Formats: sequence, C-alpha cells, structure tokens
Amino acid sequence: MNLSDLESLSFASAFVDTLPGDPSSRNVPRRVPGASYSLVAPTPVVAPSLLAWSDAVGAQLGIARPPLGPGPVADVLAGNRLLPGMRPYAARYGGHQFGHWADQLGDGRAITLGEAQGPDGRSFELQLKGAGPTPYSRQADGRAVLRSSVREFLCSEAMHGLGVPTTRALSLVATGDLVVRDMFYDGHPEAEPGAIVCRVAPSFVRFGHFEIHATHGEIDILRTLADYVVTTHYPELGAPSSATYLALFEEVCRRTAVLAAHWTRVGFVHGVLNTDNMSILGLTIDYGPYGWLEGYDPTWTPNTTDAATRRYRYGQQPNIALWNLARLGEALSPLIDTPDDLHRGLEVFRSTFSTVYGTMLGDKLGLDTLDTTGEDPLLTGLFSLLEAEETDMTIFFRGLARVPVDDDGSDDSAWVAPVREAFYDPAVLDGPHRARLLAWLREYAARVRGERRPREQRMARMDAANPKYVLRNYLAQQAIDAAMTGDTDVIARLLRVLARPYDEQPGEDDLAQRRPEWARHRPGCSALSCSS
Ligand code: AMP
Ligand code: MG
Repeated sequence: MNLSDLESLSFASAFVDTLPGDPSSRNVPRRVPGASYSLVAPTPVVAPSLLAWSDAVGAQLGIARPPLGPGPVADVLAGNRLLPGMRPYAARYGGHQFGHWADQLGDGRAITLGEAQGPDGRSFELQLKGAGPTPYSRQADGRAVLRSSVREFLCSEAMHGLGVPTTRALSLVATGDLVVRDMFYDGHPEAEPGAIVCRVAPSFVRFGHFEIHATHGEIDILRTLADYVVTTHYPELGAPSSATYLALFEEVCRRTAVLAAHWTRVGFVHGVLNTDNMSILGLTIDYGPYGWLEGYDPTWTPNTTDAATRRYRYGQQPNIALWNLARLGEALSPLIDTPDDLHRGLEVFRSTFSTVYGTMLGDKLGLDTLDTTGEDPLLTGLFSLLEAEETDMTIFFRGLARVPVDDDGSDDSAWVAPVREAFYDPAVLDGPHRARLLAWLREYAARVRGERRPREQRMARMDAANPKYVLRNYLAQQAIDAAMTGDTDVIARLLRVLARPYDEQPGEDDLAQRRPEWARHRPGCSALSCSS
C-alpha cells in the first residue's frame, strides 16, 4: 500500500455538523445545557516530540510512519497545529460514576480533531487525550502525564493484538510541559512530564452521551444523537424509528457482552467501568487504572480508588456491564413506544455473554464437551484450583496445551512442568497442592482423550485463545521508567511483541514471565489510582 503523510488526510466533521453545539466559545468550566459538544481548540504545548507511533493504525489511516522526535507531525499530534478541515471539539456527556449519577462530565481533556477516511473508506475520529482544558474540565487541568499516556498507548494496541474490541492509539507525543499530580491522593503532589496520545476510533460516543440528554429532558437532541449513531455506525439497522432504537440497544448489548467475555478471557480489568467509560460501539475505552490479572483472583482490581468496595473487580465486570446497559436503556426509553421491550436487550446481553464466554472457555481448554453453564466439575475444579494458590492465569492456560495429556505413562513431573512457571511460590508444588494439581490435570487429560481430537489441532485452538504475551502491569511500568529517562525502546519493543500475542516469539520469552517479586507492591505495578 502506498502511504502518504498526515498532512494529506482530509478531515470531515459529521458529529459537529449533525448535532447541536454550544453557542458559547468561552473556554471555562461550566454547564453546557442543550448542546452535544463545545468547539474548542487544543492548547499549545511547549515542545512536542513524537515518542511512539503505531504503524498498524497509521496504515488504517493510510499514513506512513514519520520520524520520531520534534517535527511537523508531532506539532499536529500535540494539538499545536491544526490541519485544514479539522473542527476540534470536546463532547458533552454525563455518567454514572461508581453507581451514582454524576451529571455533566464531558471531554475534560480529550479533544476530537476531526474524522479522517482511511484508504478502505472507513472513517475514524482522531482524538487527542491531554490536549488542554475544555468547558468540561471542571477543577482539572486538561492534561495527561507521560506514565498514563504510555499505558493508554500500549494497552490500546495490545488489546487490538489480542482481538479485543478497543479504541486504538496512533501516537504518543511528549509535550515538554510539566503536569502536577498527586499520584496517590495522599498530599504529595509532584511535577511530572506531560504527554498526549492520539486515539483513533470510528466513534468515541459513550453511554453517557445519551444519559446527559435524557436526564435533562433534551429529547430532541437525544433523538438526533440516536439517529446519528444509527445512520453513521449502525446503518444495517435501517432507518431510524422506535423499532430501530430498540434494535440499536440490543446490538449494543450484544457487543458489550462480547467485550466483557473477551476481558474475562484475557484477564483484563478495566478499573473504572463508569457509564461514561462505556463505548456505544462496544469498544474498550478510556485506559486509566486498568490492570491484568497475574495471580488468578476474581476479586482483584488494580484501582486503589475502588479499593473499599471493589465494584469494578475482575469477576464483577460482566455484571457491571449489564448494570451500565440498564442505564443506557433508561436513557433511550423516551425514544421508544414500548419501553418495556428494552428488557430484551438485557436478555441479549445475558445469552450472548454465556454463549460467547462458554465458547471461549472451550477454546481455552481445547474441549468440545465442556458444560459451561457452571455445572461442569472440570471447570469449577479448575477455577478453585487457580484460586487456591497464587497461580498466573496467563502462564497456566498457555502451559495447559503443553501438558502431555496423551501420554498416560509419563511421570508426574512431566505433567507439572508445562505449568510450573505459573506458580508464584514454587514451594507449593512440593506440598499438597501438587497432588491437587495433578488430580485435576489427570481429570482434564481423560476428557481430552475422550474427545479424540488430533493433538496439533487442539494445541492450535488453545494457543489462539490463550495469549502468551499480555501487557503485564510491571512491563508497562518498565516502559514508563525507560521513557522517563528518554528511552523509548521498551515501548517500541512491547508494541511489536504485543501485536502478535498468540505467537511464540523466540528471544522475547522474558516478556512472558510471571511478575517478579520486586513488582508485587510497587506503585504502578500492582496498584494504580485514577490520577493520570
Ligand atoms: P475518567 O474517570 O478518567 O474517565 O474521567 C472522568 C471525567 O473526568 C471525564 O469527564 C474526564 O474528561 C475528566 N478528567 C479526568 N482527568 C482530567 C484532567 N486532567 N483534566 C480535565 N478533565 C479530566
Ligand atoms: Mg473517562
């Protein structure tokens, strides 16, 4: 493919052209009733420098990799220079935060530059996160720090590599400005380097866009928004009507169920599943204090801000997604002649999640006969085994395909070897846990043999569902530590390896190891706050 440069993209502004905007251009925090967005330009930064670039996203847009460092591309991706056709705006949305209606939130530091069409005709919004204050910034500064921007950049691309629906990231730019953050909200603010990620998605519309209009009785705008989303992003649902809005809701429920199933499959914990962080396209959106399960633990959350109730813990995410969908359904109800029918969407969520996640479990274990309704003793046995001792979820599942299940004659240590590295305390394999593990593995092996599938076929199926490489929390922190000293090689390496997370990649095995002990309690590796 012939790639051109960023300057040659032409930008459209369908969102701005279709929806009602803020009549005022005052860039101060305020309520913006009756509008879906405020036109606002990014605030220039002192010294933009391109730190990282995603070739995959560039290719989607038809643009070639520019040189790293300062330059005209960094200027655009830092918001210092607008290209023809860009009509930058911050969107107005609301949200339920931690279960409570928070009213107007909006893009407090994200500014959408415009919509660009890729060579295949698909259109993508380019949005700068950390581009400066907007009318929705409330008490905050509109900026983002380098550490959280590295995390968003890498995780967006890692999730895509895993096949998990997500917003993407084109670039990471250092701003040269300092940003003050109190990382643990404990009265120790520090100046940190600032950065901006250029996020890319067909749309950044959230559940909260609908909620804000519904809550304020802005029903005409609500309808215009729903029509915009249907015609632009769900044209297959047909011309907008009450029935179409119901179909839209069901489709969002379906996609969100698929999304939650993927998160569960790969051990991803979003950390802040408020309704303003839920995409109307069913994408993972807003990478903040997210994390990856290392030791399998359904109660785990990386978000220290959520430590008390653990509302957004790993095992709770599907339920929370459903709760959030119920809020979206309420917001859509004024548009629907028979609002009682909205419950069908929630049924679609339940049935989709159970089918899709059930299929994923079958793939993870390489079995066709798994009863994934929760009654299969092989499954309940597996999850209680994983919880009993600190067991790395990623390593365990990856190793499972390599247990010599066809060779009943081989000795116990050959059976344990492929999953040995999953145990954070290797000594547990000298105690009673070894017998428990072996008992489960033998039970599993009997099931596998009963299905009589070729070994290669089973392994390929399992390897395609069980990544070898995920963005372990400490790996992201290592990339941040290096970037803080001006070294972006770790970011580039992780970007490259995590693009193919299901492949064995010789020479990269050190990125597939369990969390080292030094990282167990280190901030950023085990616990994160919303401060970003
Ligand atoms: P989050 O929980 O990160 O999704 O953010 C919730 C709300 O706070 C959104 O409206 C964000 O735009 C806003 N917000 C978060 N950080 C900042 C910041 N540094 N400056 C302005 N607004 C922010
Ligand atoms: Mg957010």
